[in-house]
Amino acid sequence: MSLRRTHATSPNARAHAKNTPTATIVGAGPNGLSAAVVLARAGVDVTVLERNDTIGGGARTAELTLPGFWHDVCSAVHPMAFASGFFRRFGLTDRVDFVTPEISYAQPLDGGDAGLAYRDLHRTADHLGVDGAQWLRLMGPLVDRAHDVAQATGSPLTRVPRHPLALALFGVRALELAATMGSFRFREDRAPAMLAGVAAHAIMPMPRLASSAAGLVLSVTGHQDGGWPIPIGGSQSIVDAMADDVRAHGGRIETGQHVTSAADLPDSTVTLFDTTPRALVEILGDRMPAGYRRTLERFRYGNGVAKVDFALSGPVPWTNEELHKTGTLHLGGTAAETAAGENQVARGEHPDNPYVLVSQPTRFDPSRAPEGKHTLWAYTHVPADSDRDMTEAIVRQIERFAPGFRDVILGSSSRSAQQMEGYNPNYIGGDISAGEPNLLQLIRRPTLSPTPWRTAVDGVYLCSSATPPGPGVTGLPGAYAATAALRDHFGVTHLPRLGPDPV
Ligand SMILES: Cc1cc2nc3c(=O)[nH]c(=O)nc-3n(C[C@H](O)[C@H](O)[C@H](O)COP(=O)(O)OP(=O)(O)OC[C@H]3O[C@@H](n4cnc5c(N)ncnc54)[C@H](O)[C@@H]3O)c2cc1C
Repeated sequence: MSLRRTHATSPNARAHAKNTPTATIVGAGPNGLSAAVVLARAGVDVTVLERNDTIGGGARTAELTLPGFWHDVCSAVHPMAFASGFFRRFGLTDRVDFVTPEISYAQPLDGGDAGLAYRDLHRTADHLGVDGAQWLRLMGPLVDRAHDVAQATGSPLTRVPRHPLALALFGVRALELAATMGSFRFREDRAPAMLAGVAAHAIMPMPRLASSAAGLVLSVTGHQDGGWPIPIGGSQSIVDAMADDVRAHGGRIETGQHVTSAADLPDSTVTLFDTTPRALVEILGDRMPAGYRRTLERFRYGNGVAKVDFALSGPVPWTNEELHKTGTLHLGGTAAETAAGENQVARGEHPDNPYVLVSQPTRFDPSRAPEGKHTLWAYTHVPADSDRDMTEAIVRQIERFAPGFRDVILGSSSRSAQQMEGYNPNYIGGDISAGEPNLLQLIRRPTLSPTPWRTAVDGVYLCSSATPPGPGVTGLPGAYAATAALRDHFGVTHLPRLGPDPV
């Protein structure tokens, strides 16, 4: 089966008339755009259709609260900016300026204490005192092989691993953390709390192998030179750099184009969907073999997030002064408290003690707020489809570690999990991963195949974070999908050069 529908006036129709290979990409998120970069660089005539009025998907920056305060609407911190194979080839850090905080992430504890993940592994170990040696033993071998770990974990799990030793070391540690949450290794609260804070990113019951593995990947990147960087100007800078590259290589990006059926798609050699499998079924389900369609329909979506952005008159009054040196904080308290909150969400409850992810970008990029003022980005986990405004719960959790926080709030903007889906249909029920990243769905994402980006409809590919290696601003799912399309339909077997054009 193939998609064939001619739009007499569409750019793709014109390209067909000239026999130029064409690609349509549905969605201008980081993965739609990375797919567009790869295809445009290979000489394919690319058109990207985006439903929103602005590009970027989960990497947009906007004035959400008060004039002059620029907020990252979704992603804010970019551990993969330096680690993703796609971004390294694209030369992202040559195109966008990043600031890397001295402390990658922090987990405040009651009484002014905090677990601090300095970029410098040995400094972190010193800070952890009696638990320092164990932190070195846990992280050191992986940090030494960070490049191999990033490559192994950034590849589909259905392929033969490229770095088996790094993957084995990684797997053993992830299994240990899933079984013990660090309780046998560490004597004090800080290190287990730090590990729980990174693992909780996965929005899953805790402990679980998938969340421990996700946490370990994040921890390892936190101890590299690139750390957990923040882009100057916000996440929008990352997608703008990709969009500029697409246009420089002949591609077009059309906003305000919501694709709801096959009739909305121009005639193209290949079509790539930066959407969920559910959206693909809604658009092309009648062209799919029944078995494939059932597999996509069985793909599960996870619990949601509720987000609040703040405009502040000054910095957050953290009790622990070191917290001003980090871009990212995980608020939830000890490992046991964090896990208890996440397990309540897994049971469909709003947690009594919510895990709150916080980013304080203006500590590092003052351009995003009027002079002397600050922005704060925060979200928390809630049951799927929750319509609850979590502003008060988030403010209370920040106040716990920064008494007086309420007094610096000038304005705020809140989105419930339901509103997250309204903003971006990829976030079904507020699930920001476009499909729960449990172990099964990391292997079968969304199908069990060495090339899961290729669908059962000829010429149609999925390129969103519902495909490997999964969520995060990495550009990898898009690049993998585009590479498969190039191989299948254009006879291109090598990735084109993606680096900045010489000036
Ligand atoms: C609140 C929040 C915080 C996050 N924080 C981080 C973080 O700090 N760091 C990090 O790395 N990641 C973070 N993420 C995750 C990250 O944003 C996503 O994993 C990433 O954006 C996925 O990229 P994508 O291209 O697959 O999909 P998306 O970014 O969701 O983009 C999909 C695009 O397709 C468009 N679209 C969908 N359906 C259609 C259609 N039918 N027709 C036309 N257009 C369509 C959408 O409008 C959207 O623009 C966060 C996400 C959220 C929501």
